[in-house]
Amino acid sequence: MTDNLQLNAEGKLKHFLTIEGLSKSLLTEILDTAESFAGMSEHQVKKVPLLRGKTIVNLFFENSTRTRTTFELAATRLSADVINMNIATSATSKGESLLDTIRNLEAMFVDMFVVRHAISGAAHFIAQQTAPHISVINAGDGQHAHPTQAMLDMFTIRQLKPDFSSLRVAIIGDILHSRVARSEIQALNTLGAAEVRVIAPKTLLPAHVESLGVSVSHNLTEGLKDIDVVMMLRLQKERMSSALLPSESEYFKCFGLTEEKLKIAKPDAIVMHPGPINRGVEIDSKVADGPQSVILKQVSNGIAVRMAVMAMAMQATAPAPGRFAAVHADRHADSLPASGIHTILGDKGVA
Ligand code: ASP
Ligand code: ASP
Repeated sequence: MTDNLQLNAEGKLKHFLTIEGLSKSLLTEILDTAESFAGMSEHQVKKVPLLRGKTIVNLFFENSTRTRTTFELAATRLSADVINMNIATSATSKGESLLDTIRNLEAMFVDMFVVRHAISGAAHFIAQQTAPHISVINAGDGQHAHPTQAMLDMFTIRQLKPDFSSLRVAIIGDILHSRVARSEIQALNTLGAAEVRVIAPKTLLPAHVESLGVSVSHNLTEGLKDIDVVMMLRLQKERMSSALLPSESEYFKCFGLTEEKLKIAKPDAIVMHPGPINRGVEIDSKVADGPQSVILKQVSNGIAVRMAVMAMAMQATAPAPGRFAAVHADRHADSLPASGIHTILGDKGVA
């Protein structure tokens, strides 16, 4: 799915639905903007007024702790008002269609939807249907995409290994069911990584996986050679419809990351995982908690990257039309000066 739907007439990011079709310069702009926000969390004053007066609805149709919480923190730190919709106990479970839910929320003057849904394409659907002044951020749709996860991982990699052109990255595990893997592969290729290698049993790889721009290995010991970044994936048991694996212990024996196997990668390789981790299934605790692991750094970076994406998307979205235009225009002017995000943050960010 290539998406001009994501960009406004000036080519700015209006919705963030997928990495596919976005340019290297736009991905770099997200990373640079996130960098301005990154120091904030450690600061005494954790807020900036960029999205003051904006209302953001976290529409989570599927469970999440990390993703929802970091989106909420990001929105709060931009001074937006945030509403978390508990979908399991709300309208759609009473038979209201997704579109009706959206229309009702629009009628409450919402400015942005952050959407997590088990069906691939759900966020695109909402972006196509919703009013033009509303921005949509995909927080994970089915097996399709999880673009903010990919960007927070790119941000984490860039902090530690700034030259993408010399990077060899291995993505290990359940590629078949992973929206994270798809978005990571697109982001790494767009940013010019030297190699993206997927390592998995045949049953957990999509057909024609090479066409995504990766090299393939079915053997962890061989596949980890020369690798700078080791990205582990969770076994997505809830998305497996048939027995694709002999057993978890068998899987761990062949594809689980242990200290011993990690030694095959470059000595300064970093270990990543999007969470939640299955200790002893895809990763040994000694590695997950070890010195090469950046798993908790990824979580922290999620806040800055989500702030960046939300601020950029709101800036690229037109003020609401109609009889409320004055109110929205005022709020827009008040919260987002024409000169943009960097004016508020200053050249050095807020750190
Ligand atoms: N799948 C969820 C995520 O995106 C799991 C979690 O939130 O803990 O992070
Ligand atoms: N949290 C990520 C996701 O929602 C990864 C995972 O759940 O395994 O896709």
